[in-house]
Amino acid sequence: MPAGPETDVIVVGAGPVGLMLAGELRGGGARVLVLERLAEPTTESRASVLHARTVELLHERGLLDRFGPLPDAGPGHFGGLRLDLAEAGDSAYAGQWKAPQTLVEAVLADWAQERGAEVRRGHTVTGLAEEHDRVEVTTTTPEGRQRRFGAAYVVGCDGGGSVVRRLGGFLMRGAEATKELLRADLAGVEVRERRFERHPNGVANARRGPDGVTRVMVHAFDRVPGPARTPSFAEVRRVWEHVTGEDLGGARALWLNAFDNARLQAARYRKGRLLLAGDAAHAQLPVGGQALNLGLQDAMDLGGKLARHLAQGPPGSGPDLLDSYHSVRHPVGARVLANIDAQAQLLFGGPEVDALRSVLGELLGIGAVRRHLGAMISGLDGGSPEGSRPPAPLGSSVPGDLAGPVDPAPIRQHITRRDITMGRLSGKTALVTGSSRGIGRATALRLARDGALVAVHCSSSGEAAEETVAAIEKDGGRAFAVPARLGVDGDVHELFLTLERELKERTGSTTLDILVNNAGVMGGVNPEDLTPEQFDRLFAVNAKAPYFLVQRALTNLPDGGRIINISSGLTRVANPQEVAYAMTKGAIDQLTLHFAKHLGPRGITVNSVGPGITNNGAPVFDDPEAVAAMAGYSVFNRVGEARDVADVVAFLASDDSRWITGSYLDASGGTLLGG
Ligand code: NAP
Repeated sequence: MPAGPETDVIVVGAGPVGLMLAGELRGGGARVLVLERLAEPTTESRASVLHARTVELLHERGLLDRFGPLPDAGPGHFGGLRLDLAEAGDSAYAGQWKAPQTLVEAVLADWAQERGAEVRRGHTVTGLAEEHDRVEVTTTTPEGRQRRFGAAYVVGCDGGGSVVRRLGGFLMRGAEATKELLRADLAGVEVRERRFERHPNGVANARRGPDGVTRVMVHAFDRVPGPARTPSFAEVRRVWEHVTGEDLGGARALWLNAFDNARLQAARYRKGRLLLAGDAAHAQLPVGGQALNLGLQDAMDLGGKLARHLAQGPPGSGPDLLDSYHSVRHPVGARVLANIDAQAQLLFGGPEVDALRSVLGELLGIGAVRRHLGAMISGLDGGSPEGSRPPAPLGSSVPGDLAGPVDPAPIRQHITRRDITMGRLSGKTALVTGSSRGIGRATALRLARDGALVAVHCSSSGEAAEETVAAIEKDGGRAFAVPARLGVDGDVHELFLTLERELKERTGSTTLDILVNNAGVMGGVNPEDLTPEQFDRLFAVNAKAPYFLVQRALTNLPDGGRIINISSGLTRVANPQEVAYAMTKGAIDQLTLHFAKHLGPRGITVNSVGPGITNNGAPVFDDPEAVAAMAGYSVFNRVGEARDVADVVAFLASDDSRWITGSYLDASGGTLLGG
């Protein structure tokens, strides 16, 4: 058997962790040989996001530019409950950034090889023999030829099924799998997108990528994990149908995979001349991309230390330095595994975890909780309860490589620091219909400022609704858009489909604390000219839709909930051009009166707010003469601003208004007092 070259370190595995380590070792002057089983780099992308701490460390190494612009991967989640990682910690890179594993591997392979690392593919490690000052590694090539390589140290970066771990006799501690998940990349099929959608039989997830490929993932509550295997498409299809009732027939499976929630960690990351990093050192459910980030950070910690140790140079480079890899990274790994385990239970537990999800959903309404969990996932909390950033890896001899202050060049134009203080509506949820503009928009902003999670509803102007959501988020609040045209068949059903899905994702429940019936249309037609169709439309949008929204919301509203109906001063002051409109608003006041009595026993208050002339941004409010004429109706001699009405709604939404129900609150600036 021919003997291969002697080197300082053999890294087994040319995945992201192995390549990162190889580059780091070369930077520290160590000779490196990377041995990889696969003849070609993988085309599969299992992990696809980088978190803030990883991006900071890549930036420190001058590696970030090589990735090109990293797209924002949007908000993350904790156990399937929405958690925006942009809120996490004090980092210019807070958030999560799309970087498919194939890209990470390609970038790191170039970098490591430019630095002088040798990568040999098609070598499966079949033997390890530790001698007094070296380790001999035996490999087998696809042609069946055996080779021997020698090195001072061998690091297993060879993933969950690590051969180095097995041959080295590393002890794994933790918990075996109790839940199994099936995953498939599918082409040629339309699957509705969903995020961890809970069903009586299990949980389903579907995401369509820009290439049109949909990644589905499904867990059935009654399935027990079997031995590691690749499932057939027929099996994925059967389980998907069992959970969702939908048939994936006709789809073409591009990639199939089964995984589980085993939580295992090597008792020691170092055993003499053998070390482990990444998934070889810890097995966990691949949730939220934490495994890749944890592994890359293992490699960044180990690389400099091992290179320094080998160089036998400066003081502090003895065995203690190398052992500090275990003492630093093992607790970090244990902490990540614990949070993944908690998430696995929230995600894939049966109905018994519903109450827990609900409580956590409430807690996620608190900014400090979101920041804490976000920092934990993003690696910004130092992985220790003390909350410090992980210490910069010791031991690099590369100038400016690992030490020194971070000079972040933010990827994101605006890093939004979200800082919700505890408002009087903290933990509450609200739906404001027609809140893309005008009074509804001001109301949504105000309720969000008071701490509520707000559903911003609109019919056609989706962009305006998104803009309202963005304004709320910029202000530190939480909101999401719900488009649904009112006044047409199925309107309320459609609105609640989206509303309940989004609420569930964000809060873990479909509770709606506050319903504001604001959307409305005006008439502006002479009484003689109004057509039956126009009359019907006014009633459909302004009166019928609010009635059925209230009726539908009754199961979502908790005791003590709030219903606020936007009426109009025109129910008290005559304007013949708006007779039919005023009739709809009269109907709204009846809705208020009768439901107030009906819902009194549940402590739900129902009230009407009657604005006068209110600037809703319509062109007429840009005409000074018209504005002056309209101002004359109010005893304050000005037209109302949308926020004047929003503040009244906010009062009715709060606990301060608990003794008011069935009322009409005049919010017209004294218009009803007469001229
Ligand atoms: P606005 O600026 O005209 O905005 C109306 C909102 O309602 C928009 O978000 C609109 O969404 C939505 N909407 C309208 N028709 C809809 C439909 N069929 N389905 C779903 N959404 C629909 O309204 P505003 O002037 O602020 O008035 C808000 C409420 O206050 C109304 O009920 C109105 O009657 C009442 N009010 C207003 C005044 C006033 O002077 N402004 C006075 C008294 C009472 P899209 O843009 O997506 O269609």
